[in-house]
Amino acid sequence: MSSQLRVGIGYDIHRLVSDRKLVLGGVKIDYDRGLLGHSDGDAVLHALTDALLGAAGMGDIGELFPDTDDAYKDANSGELVKDVVRRIRDAGFTPTNVDIIIHAERPNLAEYKKPIAESVAKLIDKPITDVNVKAKTNEGLGPVGNRDGIACTVIVGLVRG
Ligand code: MG
Repeated sequence: MSSQLRVGIGYDIHRLVSDRKLVLGGVKIDYDRGLLGHSDGDAVLHALTDALLGAAGMGDIGELFPDTDDAYKDANSGELVKDVVRRIRDAGFTPTNVDIIIHAERPNLAEYKKPIAESVAKLIDKPITDVNVKAKTNEGLGPVGNRDGIACTVIVGLVRG
């Protein structure tokens, strides 16, 4: 029972707009548009936060960090992840590994996968070998495919200890 694996899944999507920096997984991405959001719009870290909360049975990001709260306006989403990791560790859980899919038609994220994995690993205090990042286009389909937004899906494992 004590070594039982728990899993959590997270998903997020944000709209791409002009005059915003594009930040994914805490890494600044070179692109002419960025993600709109109450916070920094980092869809990767929001999906990660929800996956961690889900695995621990602690609800969701909107309950903990409401976007009606000015405290989280332009918030650095890395701080939200660190806060949640602290709560999870306080509850006796340790993340095992993280697998991330970034759904983006543009920009091409090939060169950013490793920096994003390094950034996420640092935020959750795990080695980079425990964090995997994939980037996929949406084959031109839907809001991701027509470049209106960037989405992210994350799964994490937690064990006790
Ligand atoms: Mg979000």
